This record gives sequence, C-alpha cells and structure tokens, in this order.
Amino acid sequence: MSVTQVAAYAAPAAKAPLERTTIPRRPVGEHDVLIDIKFAGICHSDIHQATDGWGEGIFPMVPGHEIAGVVTEVGAGVTKFAVGDRVGVGCFVDSCRECEQCLAGFEQYCLKGMTGTYNAIDKNGEPTYGGYSTHIVVDENYTVRIPEGIDLDVAAPLLCAGITLYSPLKHWNAGPGKKVAIVGLGGLGHMGVKIASAFGADVTVLSQSLRKKDDGLRLGASEYHATSDETTFEKLAGTFDLIVSTVSAPLPLDTYLRLLKVDGAFVNVGAPEDPVSLNLFSVIAGRKTLAGSSIGGIAETQEMLDFCAEHGLGAEIELIGADRINEAYDRVQASDVRYRFVIDTATI
Ligand code: NAP
Ligand code: ZN
Repeated sequence: MSVTQVAAYAAPAAKAPLERTTIPRRPVGEHDVLIDIKFAGICHSDIHQATDGWGEGIFPMVPGHEIAGVVTEVGAGVTKFAVGDRVGVGCFVDSCRECEQCLAGFEQYCLKGMTGTYNAIDKNGEPTYGGYSTHIVVDENYTVRIPEGIDLDVAAPLLCAGITLYSPLKHWNAGPGKKVAIVGLGGLGHMGVKIASAFGADVTVLSQSLRKKDDGLRLGASEYHATSDETTFEKLAGTFDLIVSTVSAPLPLDTYLRLLKVDGAFVNVGAPEDPVSLNLFSVIAGRKTLAGSSIGGIAETQEMLDFCAEHGLGAEIELIGADRINEAYDRVQASDVRYRFVIDTATI
C-alpha cells in the first residue's frame, strides 16, 4: 500500500478552529497495523497543544491520543494483532526501544523522548497526526488490545485519562485503608475516582464547587468537597495519604499540601501552562512528597485496560459529531464536561 490520504479534523494554526481536511497516512510497514478509528476522546492536552499553550506546536495539527478502533490490515511481520481485532492507541506511537526506560516498559519516560501520537516528528522525519481522523497506521508494539466487554466509545478515553490515573494510583499504593483525594472532576479526575475506588481506597473529590457532587458519589467517592469553600482546607487538614491533582490550571500548592498526612504524597498529573510557586516548608514539615506522573507504558496501559474490563469500568462520555469539536473545546475550557467528549469518527 502506498501513502493514503484520509479524512481528519485539524487546527490549521495555533488557536484556529479545527476544520475538516485530509492528511497522509504512511504505507502499512512490516510491523504496522492499519486501524479503522471508530472513536477518539478529546483530552485537555489536545487543547493545550492546539492553542500553543505548552509552547510552539506543529501545524496543521490533528489532535487525538485516545484512539479506539478495529484493525483492518496488518504488515507481514505482525504477530500480536489480526484483522478484526479491537485496539487502542494512546499518547505515543514510538520511542527509542533501547534505553533503560524503554527496556523497563516505561516508554513514556524514554530517555531520547517518545514520539507523540500527534504534534511530533517521527523517525522518518514526518509529522505525526492523531486520532481525530478515520484511519491511523501504528507499529504493533505501540498498539494495545481493547478487551471484549468494554465498548469502544467508552474505552477510548482510557488510553489517556484512564492510564494517567491508573499508573500513579498503583505506584503510590492507593488501596484499602488509604485515604485518596482526586482534585478536579473532569476527564482524568472521573477516571481517578473510578479506579481508586476499584482499588479499594477511600476516595474524596475536591472540586471547585458542589455542582457535580451527586456524580462524584455515584462514581465511587465517599466524600465530596468544594475548594471554593475555605473551610474545606481547615476541615481536611492532615487527612490524605495521597492526593492526585488533575487540574489543568496552576493551583496554590502550599494550601493543598496541608491536606496530606505525614509522609503523604501529592502527585500532579495536571499540566498547566504556567509555572506554580511553592514554599519548601510545605514539604519539609511532615516529610511530604511532591511528585508528578506521565501517562503509562504500553504494558501498563494493557494492564489498565484488562483491569477496567474486569471491573466494568469505562469513561462517562458525551458522544459528539466532528462538527462539534470546537464547541467541545470551549466547554472543556469552561470545566463544562461530563466527563469526556468522544468524537464519533464516522462523522469526519
Ligand atoms: P478536564 O476534563 O478539563 O478536567 C480538569 C478539571 O480540573 C476540570 O474539570 C475542573 O474540575 C478542574 N479545573 C479546571 N480549571 C480549574 C481551575 N482554574 N482551578 C481549579 N480547578 C480547575 O481536563 P483533563 O483532560 O482531565 O486534563 C487535566 C489536565 O491533565 C490537563 O492539564 C491535561 O493536559 C493534563 N494531562 C496530563 C497527563 C499526564 O500524563 N500527566 C495526561 C493527560 C492530561 P472541577 O470542575 O471538578 O473543579
Ligand atoms: Zn491526554
């Protein structure tokens, strides 16, 4: 097969509305699979990048790193997948495969840098284009299997939102007897509540308001507090073993660190565009940990999908046609999402 043009939605320039276009997809190589994309989630990271919020992006940009679809062609050397398999692709499509991080299964921390699913340049010097499109060609080693038992539409957001919460919750031992707070009930946050409660932890949601309290409790939280209410920080001082922040804007870290127990950890997965300040006494007092975490490796992403299938966990989604992507971006930026927009790629 030669290079094919496929339909996609792209931002032609930073901050410009996304519009329908066509993009090239490479021929199916020996170790590649061709995926007929069925659904693509909209992550806040798509918006940060399409608006140059994290620095200068590569345009035209086809965002989308929460991809769920079906394999329609495989290269001659492919052993892991067959035509008809239900598969997913997350935030990266390649890495060096040689460094200690890649060899340990932490491709997201590849010492030479992973190749992003979009807004990156691949080994052939070509720009990568993401999931807001009808098809994608991906190396089988960067493709995961979506188990039977999770519908593809609610599985798509697991490829970023799901793994981004699963990985730190597992690493920092969220489980029975642990008090865990999830800050921000958006795409990532709602998966954090589901996964942490499936791990057996006692989960509290810290949200800007009580607007989504009923949802938070239904998703598995035992408590729900508004961060706009100053008494929340007095009431909950010294409460948590682990706090995972999914907030897309800078937070007053010193205030949040006071909510940890001695030896507690505050793990940031939100990726605000602006720096934050910190008084180091906030971690000195109480031997607290301030950490970050980025998505997860391929093997852990597969483990997370299998866990979600076993526990009946998928994302809560609002399925949209591609003509509503720009509206969805506005709503995500206004924290008006319950809890992930997913594009039906048949509408592209
Ligand atoms: P999202 O759906 O927009 O959720 C973010 C939530 O944060 C909002 O729903 C809101 O929750 C809260 N929030 C927003 N603005 C706030 C503010 N000014 N102050 C306090 N709370 C605020 O976004 P997402 O897709 O979950 O992504 C969240 C962040 O994680 C983004 O920055 C994204 O780029 C980043 N991210 C990081 C990784 C990683 O690997 N580390 C992976 C994916 C995404 P409430 O309404 O409940 O307050
Ligand atoms: Zn994402």
